[in-house]
Amino acid sequence: MAHMSEEGYEQKYVKEAFDTNWVVPLGPNVNAFEVDLKEFVTKKTEELGGGQLDGGHELVALSAGTAAVHLALLACGVGPGDEVIVQSFTFCASSHPITYLGAKPVFVDSEADTWNMDPELLEQAIKDRKEKTGKLPKAIVPVALYGMPYKIDRIMAIADKYGIPVVEDAAEGLGSRYAGQVLGTFGRYGVLSFNGNKMITTSGGGALICSANETEKALEMKNRIMWYATQAREAYPYYQHEAIGYNYRMSNICAGIGRGQMMVLDQHIKHHQHIQAMYEELFADVEGITVHSQPKDSRFDSNYWLCTITLSPDLKVKNQDKAYSKAVQGAVGGAAGVVHAGGSVHTDLEPNSNVEAMRSELDLLGIEARPLWKPMHCQPVYAGSVAFVNGVSESLFKVGLCLPSGPMVTDDDVRYVVDSIKSLIEK
Ligand SMILES: *Cc1c(COP(=O)(O)O)cnc(C)c1O
Repeated sequence: MAHMSEEGYEQKYVKEAFDTNWVVPLGPNVNAFEVDLKEFVTKKTEELGGGQLDGGHELVALSAGTAAVHLALLACGVGPGDEVIVQSFTFCASSHPITYLGAKPVFVDSEADTWNMDPELLEQAIKDRKEKTGKLPKAIVPVALYGMPYKIDRIMAIADKYGIPVVEDAAEGLGSRYAGQVLGTFGRYGVLSFNGNKMITTSGGGALICSANETEKALEMKNRIMWYATQAREAYPYYQHEAIGYNYRMSNICAGIGRGQMMVLDQHIKHHQHIQAMYEELFADVEGITVHSQPKDSRFDSNYWLCTITLSPDLKVKNQDKAYSKAVQGAVGGAAGVVHAGGSVHTDLEPNSNVEAMRSELDLLGIEARPLWKPMHCQPVYAGSVAFVNGVSESLFKVGLCLPSGPMVTDDDVRYVVDSIKSLIEK
C-alpha cells in the first residue's frame, strides 16, 4: 500500500488547491502532476546516455487506471463487434473496458519466465482471428503483472508486423523498465494507476501516456483523450454534443496528492526492490518455495510492486487437510463497499490446498498473503470468450501467493514473514 511522503508535500499541494479555489477536475495541480509524471516516464538511464527521451510522449491524468484503459481503447477505434487481444493473467481492469465498448476480449496466456503475454501465442492468436473472422484485432494489451516487464521488443515487432496498436497496461509497473526505457512509453498508449494499493497513490487515479506514431502527434492524442475525458464538449457558448464523452479527468485535489507522491516514487521503487532481494535471499535454501524473479537478462528491471512465491504441490503445510473448510467473508483486495457473498467454498479453479492453508495460517499470524490473480479466461463472467492458452497462468494460479511488499514493510517484517512460512511447512 502506498503511503504519504513524510515531508507532507501532499498536504501542501492539497491546501494550495483549496487556497486558490481550484477544487475542480482541472487546474494547476493537474497540469503540474502531468509535467512531473512526463519527466519521470521519459527519463533515460545512464546506460541510455541520461536526459529525457526524444519528444513524442504526452500524458493525461485521469480519475482511474481503468478509465485510462477505456479511453485508450476508444482512441484506438475499438467499437461494437471488434476484438481486442489482452493478457489473461491480469486484474479485471485490463479486460473489462473492452466490454464497455461492446467489443470482445481475446485472451492470451502467459510465458513461464515473465508470467506475461506469450509473444508466440500472441502471433498465433492474431493469425487465427484473422482467418476465422476476416478482421484483425483492434488492439493488443500486454500487462506488467506485479510490475514485471513483458517482452515488449517482441510484442512490438509482432504488433507492427500486423499494424495493430499496443496499449501497455503498466498500472502495476510504474517505473519498471525494459532495456532502460520506462514501461508505458513503447506502445501507442500506456496505462498507469495511482489507486490506493499501487506504487504511488492519489487516493484514486490513473494516467494515460500517449506516444506519437505515423498518424498522430502526441499532443493531438493528448487533446483527444482530454476531450473524451471531459464529456466531449464542442466549442459553442452552450453545451453542444456530437460524440459520447466521459467524466474521467483527475481532480485538482487528487493531483495535489500525486505531486507530493512523486517525491517518494523513486524511494518506493527502491524499497520494493530491496524487499524482493530479501525474499530471494531468505528463501534461497527453503525447499518447495520459489520466489518469482525477473529473467537473468539485463534488459529487465522490475519495480517488484508485489513479491510473489510459488509452493511446490508436494509441500506439506500445517492444517492443509482443513483448507477450504469454511467460506471466506468479504472480498479480497480492499474492495471498498458491496461484495456478493461467495456461492460456495469451491470454484472450478482454485489454489491448491497447501497454498490456501498457507494463506489462512499466515492470516492467523497477522500476515496478509493473497492468491495470484485468477486468469480472466477462467472467470465465469468471461465464459465462452476466445482464449489462447498454454496452461501457464492456470498452473501458476494454483501454486502462487503474493507476499507483503509495500512501503510500510520493514526488514524485520520480511524476516517474520519468511520465518512464519518456514514454521508452517511440515517435514
Ligand atoms: C490496478 C490496475 C488497473 C486499474 O487501475 P485503477 O486505478 O484501479 O482503475 C488496471 N490494470 C491492472 C493490471 C491493475 O492492476
